[in-house]
Amino acid sequence: MALLHNNRPVRIGKTKKNSCKWQSTAPQCLMAGELFWIKVKIRESDEMHFVNARGILTGSGGHYGMNIYRGCSHGCIYCDSRSRCYRFTHPFEDIEVKQNAPELLEKELRSKRRKCMIGTGSMSDPYMHCEEELRLTRKCLEIILQYGFGAAIQTKSDRILQDIDLLEKINRSAKCVVQITLTTYDDDLCRILEPNVCNTKRRIEVLEEMQKRGIPAVVWITPILPFINDTIDNITSILNECIRTGVKGIIDFGMGLTLREGDREYYYAALDKHFPGMKERYIKHYGNAYELPSPKAGELEALFQKTCRANGILSSPEECFRFMNDMPEKFPQMSIFDL
Ligand code: SF4
Repeated sequence: MALLHNNRPVRIGKTKKNSCKWQSTAPQCLMAGELFWIKVKIRESDEMHFVNARGILTGSGGHYGMNIYRGCSHGCIYCDSRSRCYRFTHPFEDIEVKQNAPELLEKELRSKRRKCMIGTGSMSDPYMHCEEELRLTRKCLEIILQYGFGAAIQTKSDRILQDIDLLEKINRSAKCVVQITLTTYDDDLCRILEPNVCNTKRRIEVLEEMQKRGIPAVVWITPILPFINDTIDNITSILNECIRTGVKGIIDFGMGLTLREGDREYYYAALDKHFPGMKERYIKHYGNAYELPSPKAGELEALFQKTCRANGILSSPEECFRFMNDMPEKFPQMSIFDL
């Protein structure tokens, strides 16, 4: 059966009645009492499937997290989100789209009395290729704005600029923090490490734009890959750009990398492809360890802390998270005595 979704051809499959994990998609998929799932391809390398999620916010009280998508198409060779512990039941690149995310978010925010920050982007990038078409992140930001909440968004993509109008409004009415990851100043290396997303130069332009608009930014300078991007030159160049673009804080986790099942195999395959002999060097140096600190971690960390201190930049993860999670009371509630 041929179907079109937004004028693009889609593949459809049939499941046993009521046993479909990937259920209810747009367009209509209940046909003759049987449930169909639909896979949509936007680019040759992209696949996705649609689900109706039961809830969208995680966490409680002070701040919430939200992941509209599951899986990611950016292809970072070190990606922790693809680790087996997250129990994906589909390939990591086959993006699970929570198509009812805006409705769920609206319902959940409507019932909350206390305004707080809502974070997104920790497990998959909210500005993947499919967002160009689906605009679910944008719809969720509109709801966040409408209900007076704040947003903390983490991405590597310049597609965030398509929502700059909304980010500005959220920042004016509550608070918005944009988090950009910068791992290497060398754009040739960037194309290898993070192949399907804009390069570092472009991400720095995103930071410039945030600075121009007064939207605070936090940079994630992580992971630092042993023997690859763990150089004084690299860290210095990134820090200089952070200073120039006025970032509020920088998050590092001790200048190294973590690897676990699922993530490790993918990373080692990429090392074999792009850095012959490197996998063997890793195995010799770290064995099967979860934490792989750079041999230069002490030196790099000292440089990082000293530079941040000298420039008034928050430099511990705790400080950065406190800043991102803290929701200012811009419009304090009226008391009975104000009447
Ligand atoms: S952008 Fe983040 S979630 Fe996506 S592949 Fe890269 S590290 Fe993984």
